[in-house]
Amino acid sequence: MKIEDILAQERRARMAAERLLAQKQAELSDANRVLSKHALSLSDEIIETREVVEEIKGENTQVRADLEKANKEVVIAKRRLWDSLETIEDGFAVFDQTDRMIAANTAYLEPFDGLQCVAPGIHYTEILNIATEEGIVDIGDLRPLAWRDMMLSRWRAPRRDPHVIRLWDGTYIKLVDRRSRDGDMVSLGLNITETINYQTELKDARFRAEAASRAKSAFLANMSHEIRTPMNGVVSMAELMAEGDLDDEQRLYVDTIRTSGEALLSIINDVLDYSKIEAAKLSLHPEPFDLEAILLEVVTLLQPSAQEKGVKLCVDLDILMPSKFMGDAARIRQVLTNLIGNALKFTHEGHVIIRAIGLPVGEDDQQRVHITVEDTGIGIPDEMQAHIFGEFNQVEDERNRKFEGTGLGLAITKQIVELMKGEIWVDSQEGVGSSFGFHITLPVEEHITPPSLPEKRGPVQLFMEPGLDRTILEKRLSSLGFQTELSDLSDTLPATKPLAIFTDEKGWRCLQQEQVEATSKSDAVTPLVFILCPPHSAQTISNEISAPDIHVLHTPVLRSAFFEAVNQFRDQVESICASGEPSAPDQPTEEQSINARAMRVLAAEDNKTNQLVFSKLVKTLDIELQFANNGQEAIDLFKSFDPDLVFMDISMPEVDGKEATRRIRAYEKETGLDRTRIVALTAHAMTGDAEEIMSHGLDEHLTKPLKKPAIFDEILTNCPKAARCPLPES
Ligand code: ADP
Repeated sequence: MKIEDILAQERRARMAAERLLAQKQAELSDANRVLSKHALSLSDEIIETREVVEEIKGENTQVRADLEKANKEVVIAKRRLWDSLETIEDGFAVFDQTDRMIAANTAYLEPFDGLQCVAPGIHYTEILNIATEEGIVDIGDLRPLAWRDMMLSRWRAPRRDPHVIRLWDGTYIKLVDRRSRDGDMVSLGLNITETINYQTELKDARFRAEAASRAKSAFLANMSHEIRTPMNGVVSMAELMAEGDLDDEQRLYVDTIRTSGEALLSIINDVLDYSKIEAAKLSLHPEPFDLEAILLEVVTLLQPSAQEKGVKLCVDLDILMPSKFMGDAARIRQVLTNLIGNALKFTHEGHVIIRAIGLPVGEDDQQRVHITVEDTGIGIPDEMQAHIFGEFNQVEDERNRKFEGTGLGLAITKQIVELMKGEIWVDSQEGVGSSFGFHITLPVEEHITPPSLPEKRGPVQLFMEPGLDRTILEKRLSSLGFQTELSDLSDTLPATKPLAIFTDEKGWRCLQQEQVEATSKSDAVTPLVFILCPPHSAQTISNEISAPDIHVLHTPVLRSAFFEAVNQFRDQVESICASGEPSAPDQPTEEQSINARAMRVLAAEDNKTNQLVFSKLVKTLDIELQFANNGQEAIDLFKSFDPDLVFMDISMPEVDGKEATRRIRAYEKETGLDRTRIVALTAHAMTGDAEEIMSHGLDEHLTKPLKKPAIFDEILTNCPKAARCPLPES
């Protein structure tokens, strides 16, 4: 090969190598560029990472500082909590779910008197064991095991009420245990010793006060009995003296002794009742009773004083009101007596009217009985109307200072009405009059049966002065559907024939006899005439009446008498002749002739004055009377004297009237004798006593001072056929 070729070849090879070198150098510089870029970004990353690390480092330091602070606070809070728990005097402990103590304050551990084992970690059952074994708890009559069982079952119950335990030293601890949501038991032991001691003191004080009140009541009852006995003697003797021949001056003295004695007895009754109410001893004794009869009794009793003052006393009782209710008749009578008595006391002219209506209430057969007592008396100033229901409260002014009274009546009345769950009120205008009202709800015992009414209901003539009697009568007739015609006494009877004529005493006098007769003769149906008059003038009028169609009706007219009158209209209308001779009064039977023996009456009475009063009361009767001076003598005489009737005093020394009666009843039973009537005579004024006395076998109860009519009534109605009539032959 030629050199030129070789050189050319070498040149070409050199140039190729140079090109390769240049290429590699370019590649190397590219790689260097990439590398330096990467190194740059790496160094950036390192810087960033370093910053993050620095930041985290800072945060970490903050967290550590916070944690430290939080820990410190927890420690402080815990210490404060325990300081507080230690400060309180009540015990506090926490138990875990397995009933092991986690913590307890000193007060909780104190009763265990430093026992090392009673500390966190101890089991609840172990605490109970220590409490009984060491005598820390007073477990009363329970055995230790029973007490622990009782405490454990309480601890494990899903819910537990607080439980009070007594420690050996008289400390009372109320345990309040509650399970928390995570199952721990938080136990509180509250020291309630002071409260318990205070309650005990209160109980003792109440007991002492009640005992004192009972003693006061008993003292009052005894004292009143002691006062009543001689007072009864005074009143009875005055009554006996009044029966004799006395000149006017002597009669005045005797009447004054009697009325003063009676007033004193009524005050004693008020004081007694009041003391009974105060001692919360007043109780009710419900029994079936006839409200109308009670009203009439009270009105009859007060009628004489109304008459004396010229005040009209009327009763307006709802005609269809039930005839019997269930209630304490004696207390209702007492309320009525007080209200009607007051109305009469404070009324000088006009009237006193008692209105009674019954309104059905509830599902059961009960009625709300509304009674009002209205008067036209002195009235009560507005500002005094609430005051008068308080104890010893009276309207003290010039006008009524002259009235007698204790100021207890309305207080007692209010208490009685409230005891019957009722209400009492007053509506009054000074100088015009007062209306006292009350309502009580009572079960109905018997409904009234209205009469069957005639087809023709009128006209019924009311020939009387306008006034309360006429208004009440008109209301009653209208409510039964009768057509009424009113005429004043100045009118003459109308030409139309009335079915019946109602008139009053004055009307009867003005009524032309001829007119009645003329009216009656001119028609097949004769008008019936009913004369309304108070009981005291009824006899005089009855004596003047000759015709059978003229009848007297006592005021206040009882519903039974009114219904009887309506029955007579019906008979009249239907022209049914009610013929027949009026039955003759009972004649003494053959056995009761003068030859029969005298009735035997035994009176047991230890007080000589009362014996004297009794013998004087019955002196006009033809009876054989024997006295027993005490209960034992009464039993002996009962056996030897064989009385037909016994009057038995209750308070007698040694064997009292109740015991004597019980023994007499036993004797009758043993010997197969018939039951002899025994009537209690007593000075007891407390209500409820009567029931108690009767429960010993007595048949009736009469309260002293003895009243002649009541004694006579007992003797005459109980005279056996074998004895002659005790009434002297007139
Ligand atoms: P007493 O009648 O024994 O004084 P009460 O408690 O029954 O006691 O009555 C208290 C007072 O209420 C009476 O003193 C009287 O002032 C007044 N009072 C009661 N009822 C009436 C009445 N119907 N009219 C006027 N005042 C009355």
